[in-house]
Amino acid sequence: MTTNRPKHPETQLAQALGWVDETTGALVPPIHGATTYQRDADNNYRRGYSYTRGDNPTYAQVEALLTSLEGGEAAMVLGSGMSAATVPFMTLKSGDHVVAQSVMYWGVRAWLLGFAEQWGLEVDLVAPNDTEGLAAAIKPGRTKLVWIETPANPTFECIDIAATAEMAHAAGARLCVDSTVATPILTRPIEHGADLVMHSATKYLNGHSDVLAGALIAARDDDWWAKLKEIRAFHGKVLGPMEAWLLLRGMRTLHLRVRQSSENAMAIARRFDGHPKISRVLYPGLESAPGHEIAARQMNGGFGGMLSMQFVGGEAAAIAVAEKVKVFKRATSLGGVESLVEHRASIEGAGTPVPFDLLRFSVGVEHADDLIADLEQAIG
Ligand SMILES: *Cc1c(COP(=O)(O)O)cnc(C)c1O
Repeated sequence: MTTNRPKHPETQLAQALGWVDETTGALVPPIHGATTYQRDADNNYRRGYSYTRGDNPTYAQVEALLTSLEGGEAAMVLGSGMSAATVPFMTLKSGDHVVAQSVMYWGVRAWLLGFAEQWGLEVDLVAPNDTEGLAAAIKPGRTKLVWIETPANPTFECIDIAATAEMAHAAGARLCVDSTVATPILTRPIEHGADLVMHSATKYLNGHSDVLAGALIAARDDDWWAKLKEIRAFHGKVLGPMEAWLLLRGMRTLHLRVRQSSENAMAIARRFDGHPKISRVLYPGLESAPGHEIAARQMNGGFGGMLSMQFVGGEAAAIAVAEKVKVFKRATSLGGVESLVEHRASIEGAGTPVPFDLLRFSVGVEHADDLIADLEQAIG
């Protein structure tokens, strides 16, 4: 594992850290399908593998790459983003207090609110960048975890990681960041003080809408990390070796895809900002966006491929636009090479905080002119 790591993420990604298979010289690693491994004659497991629910050799390269890209000390891949997101909360005890963001990926919020009650966790939700609200919510000694997502679904407001980390740490809490939308190409939360970074690797990391996967990257390889890894094993939150292999393949082009998506999203945001039929374009790259000043500081080399638009004509107008698109596909999820559009409130269902006049766009790597022309004809 002592690879001489090239400095730039582009080189690390394209060559997947430059690992060469020792047995064959292959530039692409083999897929280890084995679930069980032979013990040494003296009853040890010196090669480090015993059973695939604990660990699988196919994970090693992709986990090393994630560790390197995020500037952490350790990483693990899991069966999905939700599988990853739930792990840190499962280290907590009944009576522990958690602060999370009120605006974030609906699945994590819905799971947390349901699980919290059953597990005896106390949860407070605070609006993005509500510094006073956060200060009031954090209970020194009792708050164990602060959870943020930046940019946050589906308004894509950028959250100040360093400021949040400082407040969490002052109270003895850890900070976890869902960095799915930013990716390590644009933001490296550990450099801003985060203790743990989470990704739905289903999205940009894999990038081709064909693998469900999650990832956790830790700032420190310590006792807490050991506990997180134990939860992956005991709860069987594992990724299939084939999916781990596909994820590594997808990641080789992460930098190219994220940059192209970011450029396309910026072009779309600029084109439709101020459009008479659109009341608001929500994109962290626009000067008018809430959190833009934070995004400009915290995001490096682009503002990501996710944006939302709110329509003057309300829900009916938003749904009519989604109905008319031809290049964009009407589908949930994000971070793939193809552009998607979704009426978020419909999929989140009753009780969603998402405005009904909002469409969320995951901008892919197609030509920006084709995407803009498609939206122009759909919006009218
Ligand atoms: C998709 C997503 C998740 C959940 O990940 P899955 O891979 O679908 O389980 C969590 N957070 C964010 C920001 C997401 O976009």
